[in-house]
Amino acid sequence: MLKIQLYDTTLRDGAQRVGISFSVVDKLHIAQKLDELGIPFIEGGWPGSNPKDVEFFSKAQSLTFNNSLLVAFGSTRRPKTKAETDDNLLTLANAGVKVVTIVGKSSELQVTQVLETTLDENLSMIADSIRFIKAKGLTIFFDAEHFFDGFKANPGYALRCLVTAAEAGADCLVLCDTNGGTLPNEITIAVEAARGITNVPLGIHAHNDGELAVANTLAAVKAGVIQVQGTINGYGERCGNANLCSIIPDLKLKMDIDCITDEQLAKLTEISHYISETANLIPDAFSPYVGSSAFSHKGGFHVSGLAKWSESYQHIDPTRVGNQQRVVVSELSGKRNILYKAKEMGLDLPPRGREAQKLLEQVKLLESRGFQYDNAAASFELLVHRAKPDYQPPFELVDFMVVVERRRRPPTQKNLEEMLSEAMLKVRVGTEVIHTAAEGNGPVNALDQALRKTLLQFYPSLAQVRLVDYKVRILEESIGTESQVRVLIESSDGVEEWRTVGSSTNIIEASWLALADSLEYWLLKQKPSNSLAKS
Ligand SMILES: [Zn+2]
Repeated sequence: MLKIQLYDTTLRDGAQRVGISFSVVDKLHIAQKLDELGIPFIEGGWPGSNPKDVEFFSKAQSLTFNNSLLVAFGSTRRPKTKAETDDNLLTLANAGVKVVTIVGKSSELQVTQVLETTLDENLSMIADSIRFIKAKGLTIFFDAEHFFDGFKANPGYALRCLVTAAEAGADCLVLCDTNGGTLPNEITIAVEAARGITNVPLGIHAHNDGELAVANTLAAVKAGVIQVQGTINGYGERCGNANLCSIIPDLKLKMDIDCITDEQLAKLTEISHYISETANLIPDAFSPYVGSSAFSHKGGFHVSGLAKWSESYQHIDPTRVGNQQRVVVSELSGKRNILYKAKEMGLDLPPRGREAQKLLEQVKLLESRGFQYDNAAASFELLVHRAKPDYQPPFELVDFMVVVERRRRPPTQKNLEEMLSEAMLKVRVGTEVIHTAAEGNGPVNALDQALRKTLLQFYPSLAQVRLVDYKVRILEESIGTESQVRVLIESSDGVEEWRTVGSSTNIIEASWLALADSLEYWLLKQKPSNSLAKS
């Protein structure tokens, strides 16, 4: 069986994505997760380029890895200098790692236009740098930057760079599609040409500018590369790097290449989400394999097919990558979706019973009023619970009042005007009715504060719940400020996220409904500890 080496560069190339900034602690946590996933090589960063990466490599010494080796990244020596005195190479040699990757030019135009040196000097730079690191007893991978573009313009020179690196002792020659614009058939031709001139193992490092990074990587594997570089969630410069969250299951489940174990593969979804949370990015619901919608089914026809045969509308069993099948409830759905969804929640509604029919009618009615449950499964789950005759809500709203005021301040103060919001709330918990008031930086925030103030007295653990995202959508734009608005709220307790929905012609009421659902849902999940609201 073909042996493939996975090489992750989330911590170096992935961190180049606009909006990502990993702290040293983030990087250490991510490295541990990648070890759990069974990635043999983790590129930790470029210690020669910034002090944060130096700190990372020094702190990483205390980590224990079961599956991974850390790799330090850097570039070849500068033109017309000696490798022995090159600061960057010295830092790499002293980074405390066993494996080093060095990037060098392999495109004629990049050498003459960007590096501004001669083609021969570039070859010497590659050879000297590799020999220097190799002499320290380290494993060395050579990243041939712009290899595919260089190969197209001057194949002879691009291949000479590879031969030079191989002769200097490189352990792997990684062919880079640095600008990400190469097509899969061009990858195949260039990889085959490289195989023709050296026996040193080859690798692939693809970027996604033509949305082909995954396809190009698989084409390179087919053409004989051994090392596969990529990032979790495809994070990276510009449009990103090759996405390991797609490549790994493609290799394992479609190409029968055992790059990680089954148990490791089953952690893929969790690790993908963990790393996006650490990057402070919302996990992409539509990512293949690991997205929350990757195995979601909305059409009633599909759902009825799935109920008969689980493979009828999905390409793999989602549990293999740690994901799960979801059935989405919407006004398009039939009774079967409702039954399926209820079953998922552990509630068996009899298929011919009145409850399922009633629930479907209610969903349709609420959807006609602007609610939408596609993306608000927590609110749907509450609907199912509320349909049960013995349902006891953890709290109930009696009424509320919100005041929004614009105040003028004395002329001596900096901001002459300020907006104040205050909410007064009456809530029933068990047999008690509690009045509270709270201020907030807006009416919804004031309501949230007041509701929490009440509920925290009964359910102190509610302090873990925070609002992650708040979205307002106008449903009938033509009516202007009188139109129906839908509010979607995403909440988290640090472990799980859930979404709730509210809809009204009044934005505050819509927000209230989504907010109250969010807290009610969480309290319900905590049962039985919260079921006795102050007995
Ligand atoms: Zn790159």
